Amino acid sequence: MITDRPPQSSKARREFEKSDALTKLVTLPDAHDLQASALLLEKALATGDPRSVRVEGASILGLLARTYAITPPRLRVLGTRPRQVWEGGHFELFGDYDFQEKRIRIWMRTAVLGKVTSYRGLLHTLLHEFCHHLDREGFGFLETPHTRGFHARVDDLYHLALATPPERRRPLVWIRMGRAWRIDWSRLRSSPRTAGSSEEKGGS
Ligand SMILES: [Zn+2]
Repeated sequence: MITDRPPQSSKARREFEKSDALTKLVTLPDAHDLQASALLLEKALATGDPRSVRVEGASILGLLARTYAITPPRLRVLGTRPRQVWEGGHFELFGDYDFQEKRIRIWMRTAVLGKVTSYRGLLHTLLHEFCHHLDREGFGFLETPHTRGFHARVDDLYHLALATPPERRRPLVWIRMGRAWRIDWSRLRSSPRTAGSSEEKGGS
């Protein structure tokens, strides 16, 4: 996980700094409701049926939208992840969020083998994309940058949905990388990889 670099213009930079500082969600959805919905998503994914995944994913988005008093984003659940290969490696697209359409897309199959993606990975992508929607509709962060605060907010929702015991939750430790930050993996385990400007990619 890597943050975006701070933007040049002062207006965008102010928004970036506000997002960076917002490292906790003051309001959280009802834990029981979120965890129950997440379990239904896990079951739907196990069936491999994208329509069921869409129904349960939309149910989670509906709960979150009610929590933050914003309109729910639309959701599309697609099959095999797009994959791009170039000389230096490859990446797969996990999900994205369209600003104009207010629409989240998530892909539920891996690019190479077409296997159903991991539940935790899919849940993380869904919550990550929701946080882009929340940034724009709830907090007024129109550029919705990937800041340390942004990733921390996703992390809050992710571990609440999984009912991670507090003692098993590791704090996000950031180390500087030029003008950006990246997670210190040596101190943090078991979190899916995400990066990209409103596109979530992973790869080598
Ligand atoms: Zn993103």
